[in-house]
Amino acid sequence: MSQRVPFRTGDQALVREINLSLIMNRLHRHAPISRAALAEMTGLNKSTVSSLVNELIARKFVRELGAVSQKGIGRPSVQLELNPHAGYIVSAEIGVGFISVICTNFTANVLWECRESIPLELGQQLIIERALALMNNAVEAGKSATGTQPLLGIAFGLPGIIDTRDGTLLFAPNLRWRNLPIRDILQEVFPGVPIFVDNESNLGVLGEYFFGAAQGYDEVLYISAGIGLGGAVLHNGQLLRGVTGFAGEFGHMTLYPDGEACNCGNRGCWETRVSPAAMYRHIRREIERGVPTILSAIAAADLNLMHIVNAAQAADQVALEALERLGHDLGIGIASLVNVFNPDLVLVGGVLSQARDFIMPVVEQEIRARALKWSTDTVTLLPAKHGIQACVMGGVAAVYQTMLSVPGNTHLPVPA
Ligand SMILES: [Zn+2]
Repeated sequence: MSQRVPFRTGDQALVREINLSLIMNRLHRHAPISRAALAEMTGLNKSTVSSLVNELIARKFVRELGAVSQKGIGRPSVQLELNPHAGYIVSAEIGVGFISVICTNFTANVLWECRESIPLELGQQLIIERALALMNNAVEAGKSATGTQPLLGIAFGLPGIIDTRDGTLLFAPNLRWRNLPIRDILQEVFPGVPIFVDNESNLGVLGEYFFGAAQGYDEVLYISAGIGLGGAVLHNGQLLRGVTGFAGEFGHMTLYPDGEACNCGNRGCWETRVSPAAMYRHIRREIERGVPTILSAIAAADLNLMHIVNAAQAADQVALEALERLGHDLGIGIASLVNVFNPDLVLVGGVLSQARDFIMPVVEQEIRARALKWSTDTVTLLPAKHGIQACVMGGVAAVYQTMLSVPGNTHLPVPA
């Protein structure tokens, strides 16, 4: 970096922090890579790069690999990469009817994972206690896998509106929870550990950006289709949060003014049509009309998404139509959002992505048919790589992103 103005001491510390972050981010994208290539890529001089790399090696964030000669010519150079064993990360999600917890190493390789069904009727307190117990198991698993390396951070995702400034869940319509100071609860159980609390879609898109299908894309529209319909937007690689952090609640756009009541209190929200519940309603209506389907053998209360997917794979017309209707309604909303955000990538994650083979072609068709041609020319539609793990992998990414941003100052909790 050329330095045109004189720096005070404090500025130099800041510049070093920025440069450490620059090296970490280049290693994330381009490792394995040599010191010389890092210098060329960042514009920093070789001795600065060496000094920064030495600091990162001392902090165990970076490790040296063997020397490799480039295409068999020249002197072999030592290759560098981020050190997977820099520490471990614990990430949890409470969704509607389940708890998911994972523990990974620094570079997001899963060391331990657990996903449990849990009925909502159990109540908030018991569900949170169960999540905390599983997180403690994850911490133990991380300790035994990484030896003396530290717990780098804990992330927690919820399907609702979260004030990320104080980590309070303000409202989760489908859990029917309000005003839960979740970060404080976690901090009490895990004192001194940086805690990241965020909406499940915000985390989902981060996970895909750092470790999944959105790598290499910077303008991303992420739709998380589950019991509810969530969304998030990455602009220039950064989460678009809005003034108070609540941006991306696409599921509650009014698309059908006289439609079904929504758990948010409104009527005809987009998510009332794009959810397993909407498909169950459609299937029940068809069964009542006497349309033959193998799904009529399943009790209404037991019907789940995989029953519908399996029936569709067996060419059951009612199941196929339920999935097609859902894809159609999903595609209509996404087409409008493509016009609004002009993304280079649209990613669909969440529980409904288990039905991706049936839903995605219909979504693609609707986008191509309805969005402005100039936007659809440059957009790619993909299923999220991490599927139902998208949120917990995103929690890992939130911690990882902070380590990349402030590798020299890892003991300060920094907002995601
Ligand atoms: Zn709503």
